[in-house]
Amino acid sequence: MFRYIFNFTGNKQVSVLLFLGTTTNKNMPLQITSLDYFFNDNTKTIKNMANLEWYEGKVVDIIKETPFIRRFFIQVPSLKSYDFKAGQHVKIEFPIPSRKNYRQYSFANSPDGSNIFELLIVLDPNGLATNYLFNEVSIGSTLKISEPRGNFLVPEYVDTDLCFISTGVGLAPLRSIYLDILNRNIPHKHIYVIFGTRYMRDLIYVEEMEELSKRDDFTFIPVLSRETSDQWDGRRGYLHDVYKELFKELPPVEYYICGWRDMVTEARNNLMNMGYKRKQIHFERYD
Ligand SMILES: Cc1cc2nc3c(=O)[nH]c(=O)nc-3n(C[C@H](O)[C@H](O)[C@H](O)COP(=O)(O)OP(=O)(O)OC[C@H]3O[C@@H](n4cnc5c(N)ncnc54)[C@H](O)[C@@H]3O)c2cc1C
Repeated sequence: MFRYIFNFTGNKQVSVLLFLGTTTNKNMPLQITSLDYFFNDNTKTIKNMANLEWYEGKVVDIIKETPFIRRFFIQVPSLKSYDFKAGQHVKIEFPIPSRKNYRQYSFANSPDGSNIFELLIVLDPNGLATNYLFNEVSIGSTLKISEPRGNFLVPEYVDTDLCFISTGVGLAPLRSIYLDILNRNIPHKHIYVIFGTRYMRDLIYVEEMEELSKRDDFTFIPVLSRETSDQWDGRRGYLHDVYKELFKELPPVEYYICGWRDMVTEARNNLMNMGYKRKQIHFERYD
């Protein structure tokens, strides 16, 4: 158990008791949502919204990837380079009628030293921020964006196979990570990407995945749960069956899972039931 005392505003002090043993992944920041503060276990720092650096981001391109998913390219004109790490996310503050007026979005591209980054965003028909992004934002619009956040990171040296598991836009930080590994030639073994979605029309980054699949060190396994067309000659069903089959002999693998709560929870439980250790299973949850 650790006790941290933080100075938030002026001389107001807050003391927080943390039972670190209860966190499931020590690489993940523990989000104290009720206070809306973040505790970062690696750097022993805590930042509230007011202490974050904020920038004006300019939307420089939008690509309609599927009927419900768009890629947003955002430039930070005030910076020469907007430096994030693969796997991190940005906060965007929106003019929406909500007590919580910001949302988090993972970087979908790998860091390239430029001041432009990419987000992969799915429209929630009942969602405030995504409706704003899809209906009010166009090329040239500006958005209030934070400095990069988060610890969903892969180490600089990887000596096991890596398995990335995601559904839908959960692919965003995983794409950032595997492109970063490949672009920077970070030592690694085999990379598996297991991607679940419903229909062929929901597949994303199709051409890029075809290109990457030509590599000896990269296997992409898309799994469609509801497709009925004969044109689909790939896997059908649920993505969980894929890693259960592929890794039933329990080879050393580090898992990176990202997406919505139910999928992430099921994947973590399955992997632990198979015999993998908690510390081999890294995850980022979107809700
Ligand atoms: C670290 C992180 C990274 C993320 N990265 C991505 C990403 O790369 N791409 C992406 O698309 N998303 C990402 N998300 C999710 C994103 O932050 C938003 O949660 C998502 O876009 C929905 O926001 P929204 O404002 O449109 O929906 P919200 O307005 O927040 O609503 C979400 C859902 O909750 C329901 N709801 C809202 N209020 C109520 C209420 N009072 N009672 C009952 N139901 C309610 C709505 O009907 C809606 O279906 C990420 C989340 C996290 C935490």
